[in-house]
Amino acid sequence: MTASAAAKIKRQAAPAESADRPALLLDWYDRHRRRLPWRPLAGERADPYRVWLSEIMLQQTGVKTVGPYFEKFVARWPDVAALGRASVDDVLRMWAGLGYYSRARNLHACAVAVLRDHGGIFPDTEGGLRQLPGIGPYTAKAIAAIAFDIRTMPVDGNIERVVSRLYAVEEPLPQAKPRIQELAATLLGPARAGDSAQALMDIGSSICTPKKPACALCPLNEDCAARLLGDQETFPRKAPKKSGDLRRGAAFIVTRGDELLVRTRPEKGLLGGMTEVPGSEWLAGQDDKEALKQAPALTAISRWHRKTGVVTHVFTHFPLELVVYAATVPARTRPPDGMRWVPIATLADEALPNVMRKAIAHGLDI
Ligand code: SF4
Repeated sequence: MTASAAAKIKRQAAPAESADRPALLLDWYDRHRRRLPWRPLAGERADPYRVWLSEIMLQQTGVKTVGPYFEKFVARWPDVAALGRASVDDVLRMWAGLGYYSRARNLHACAVAVLRDHGGIFPDTEGGLRQLPGIGPYTAKAIAAIAFDIRTMPVDGNIERVVSRLYAVEEPLPQAKPRIQELAATLLGPARAGDSAQALMDIGSSICTPKKPACALCPLNEDCAARLLGDQETFPRKAPKKSGDLRRGAAFIVTRGDELLVRTRPEKGLLGGMTEVPGSEWLAGQDDKEALKQAPALTAISRWHRKTGVVTHVFTHFPLELVVYAATVPARTRPPDGMRWVPIATLADEALPNVMRKAIAHGLDI
C-alpha cells in the first residue's frame, strides 16, 4: 500500500470523522430491515421475553434454524412466567436438535429466576440482566439495547465483521475484541440503540458477508477502509485456529421389537441430561476393540453387528467419529441398570442431541 493510500484510509477510519454513520444506518434499517419472528413491526415496542429467547437461541445457531424453534416455544410458553413454570425436561425436549444444551438449562433457570425474583418481569438494566443465569455481556447488551433502548452496542460475529472492515482493524481476533467493541459504539446515535445494532446485524448477514460482500448495496460503503484497500474478505484478521484432536468411540443400537435401549447422560458436562444410546467413552486414539468392550452388559447378545462406515460429528472443541454396533434382543429382556426401553415411534419426544440422532439413524438404517 502506498503512503498516500494509507493516510487516506487512516483518515477514513477515524471514528471522529464518521459522525453521519449512525444516521445512515438507521435510515437504511427503516427501509431494509429483515422481518424476523421475534422482531416487532416498525414503531412497535420489542417484548423483552421474545428478545431474550431469540438471543439465547441464536447463540451459535443460524436464523433459519432458530425460526421454527422460536415459534414452537412462544406458542407453548407465551411469556417468561409460563416458561418459568415449565419443567426442565419439557424445555430440553422442545430444545432437542438446537444443540449446545447448556443453553436450554440456563434458559429454564433464567425464566425461573425472573419469575421468582422479579415477578415475571425482566430487569431493565444491563447490570440487572447480567445477574441472570445464561446472560453474558453480549446478551445483556442485546436485550438492553433492543428491548429497553439503552444506549449500548452488542457486538456479535456479524457486527464484528462489519466494524473490522469499516475501520480495517489490523489486530487479529480475539485480541481485537475490545477495540472493535469501542469502534462499534461510535456507530450509535443519540437514540434507537437497538435499531442501530440490528441494522449492523442485518448488514453483516445480508450485505457484508464473509465472502463476496455486496459493497455496492452497503449504506456505509463511502468511507469503508477495507473497501478502499480492496481486501474486504481478509477482515476480520484471525489468529491461526487450534482444532481439537479427533476422538473416537462406539455407539450401541439395541432393539427389542419396536423399542430402543437408551439412557440419560449425567447432568454435568457435555450434552448434560440429554438422552443417548449406550456408548463407549470418546477418546483420542481409542481403538475399536477397547470401545467394544464398553458395550452394555446384556447376556442375550452373543454377537454385535458392526455397521458399515462411521458417524461423524463436530463439537466446538473436537471432532468425533463413532463406530456403530447393532443387536436385537428377545421380548421381555430387561434393560441394564440406568437404561430404559423407549418406543422407536416416540423417539422424537426424547431430548436427543444431533450426534445421537445420527448414530440412531445409522444403526437403524433410517
Ligand atoms: S463497504 Fe463492503 S466491506 Fe465495507 S462494511 Fe460495507 S459491505 Fe462491508
